Amino acid sequence: MAILIDGKAVSQKVKDEVRAEIERDKLSIGLAVVIVGNNQASRVYVNNKKKACEVCGIKSFEYALPEETTEEELLELVDTLNEDKNINGILVQLPLPKQINEEHIIERISPLKDVDAFHATNVGKIMIGNYAFLPCTPAGVMELIHSTGTEISGKECVVIGRSNIVGKPMAMLLLHENATVTICHSRTKDLAEVCRRADILVSAVGKADFVTADMVKEGAVVIDVGMNRDADNKLCGDVRFDEVEKKASYITPVPGGVGPMTIAMLMKNTLMAKRIQG
Ligand code: NAP
Repeated sequence: MAILIDGKAVSQKVKDEVRAEIERDKLSIGLAVVIVGNNQASRVYVNNKKKACEVCGIKSFEYALPEETTEEELLELVDTLNEDKNINGILVQLPLPKQINEEHIIERISPLKDVDAFHATNVGKIMIGNYAFLPCTPAGVMELIHSTGTEISGKECVVIGRSNIVGKPMAMLLLHENATVTICHSRTKDLAEVCRRADILVSAVGKADFVTADMVKEGAVVIDVGMNRDADNKLCGDVRFDEVEKKASYITPVPGGVGPMTIAMLMKNTLMAKRIQG
């Protein structure tokens, strides 16, 4: 039976460390949180991020803009925040309403304040292994794997999903730690067979019950990034937890696994932003 990886506990430790460092060095740090429109899920995420800021001793400044905000207006706000000395990090909650091109907004954020690490400059730095910010979700997954004491170097790692936000940077971070990495996607042939090779399996697909026990090697570490709703509208991951926990050595639950880590790593990035801005 797998050991549960406690994302709440690991994320609390990360937040405690951030808070301790901020207190020790008497830092004043500001995070701008921009939300456009009335997306319910975005509102929940933004509230959780603001709560984490409070816990860590980071000042959060919310900018809630109406659904009909134009791209021009949002770009103007980003320009203002880029110049504002009290703002160290800028987070624009995605998705944005359809009249706004997300790429244009991300590219306008100063790379020094890009605490989500979505800007092409920061993505490029991750590729070459010379980075200040790590994308929050993959960085959180790395912390979770480290918390198990599992050696990553030389291991077979399989990442299911190749999005810019999760799958691709996830693979890169594993590669930087000397894993042999395979990235799978919707065109991958014999997915189950590829997954069975994995000592560490990370699923970032977004489909409930996607990863079944026959796709998992005995003793694998299984990380479930997925956030889905089951038939009863309950939050669940990609992994058939009840079957896979019998085969894995370590497994993350959903909720309480990767989710809390993403926010904790955002706090860490905001502290890093302050450091690199001097
Ligand atoms: P995404 O952009 O939709 O990417 C999903 C990936 O899954 C794609 O690369 C897709 O392949 C692949 N895929 C879909 N069907 C597949 C299949 N049948 N076989 C193999 N691969 C398949 O999603 P995302 O933004 O990366 O997010 C993935 C999941 O993680 C979602 O549930 C999301 O809610 C969750 N998430 C959680 C957190 C957190 O904090 N816990 C953060 C971010 C995301 P193609 O590229 O070929 O289409």
